[in-house]
Amino acid sequence: MEGIIIKGIGGFYYVKSSSEVIECKARGKFRHTEVTPMVGDRVEFSIDNNKGVITSIKERSSELLRPQVANVNQAFVLFAIKNPDLNFELLNKFLIQCEYKNIKPVICINKIDQGSEEDFKRLEECFSKTGYKIFFINAKKGQGIDSLRIMLKDRITVLCGPSGAGKSTLMNQLLGTYHMETGNVSDKIGRGKHTTRHSELVEVEKGLLVDTPGFSTLEMDFIEKDDLKEYFPEFHDYESLCKFRSCMHYKEPSCAVMKAASNNEINEERYNFYKKYYEELSQRRNNKW
Ligand code: ZN
Repeated sequence: MEGIIIKGIGGFYYVKSSSEVIECKARGKFRHTEVTPMVGDRVEFSIDNNKGVITSIKERSSELLRPQVANVNQAFVLFAIKNPDLNFELLNKFLIQCEYKNIKPVICINKIDQGSEEDFKRLEECFSKTGYKIFFINAKKGQGIDSLRIMLKDRITVLCGPSGAGKSTLMNQLLGTYHMETGNVSDKIGRGKHTTRHSELVEVEKGLLVDTPGFSTLEMDFIEKDDLKEYFPEFHDYESLCKFRSCMHYKEPSCAVMKAASNNEINEERYNFYKKYYEELSQRRNNKW
């Protein structure tokens, strides 16, 4: 039988199959390999004497460490338009982190009652060629939540964003009644007080939502400057037109990406961020030597 681990407690894994959730242990052999079952893992399991046993773990499409969840394939990247002011560079860095981890980002702009039409238009223009969906919401008032919930279907979603963006408010809205039933309990055992608490996957709108927010701080050291261009989806259509196959779209002659940015076919603000960040990464590399 096949299923997905939605919770792990004290050596037991709760595997959700199409019909039910089964408590399983991992087969002994996992202890001798590198792989330890993680929440989010797609597994095969069997039932012996009424006891579930995980027999194999399928290859992961992604792996998050904080929270520790496998196979997340979508991230709600939440930023407030104001209070705190939207930090455009930080938003771009979150998007790069998602791309790097093979997770599709969905941009969520919160506190829209505090923003102006110009703010929203600028954001829409900025990301129009990236293929990223962008939602404008007011989590406190529940505005825009229904259309966002629909995005959960058939995916494993993590919610991320900087502090102050409204992550817990949105999380509560998305979890809805489930959280209201369990919220008090987790408050009592000290959620957020650095007690060991593993993330769970909660079924919402026929999808799975990681119940703790992901990467609120970014560790971008792992990104190689030469790979950076891969994380800008709007560049991909132009790259084959650059004169040099190894073009970094930085200062090379006859660069199609640079040209597209100057013609406004690629958003200039995004392209300028790319160049700036590319320089930053080059600098970092040099400093190491
Ligand atoms: Zn180029």
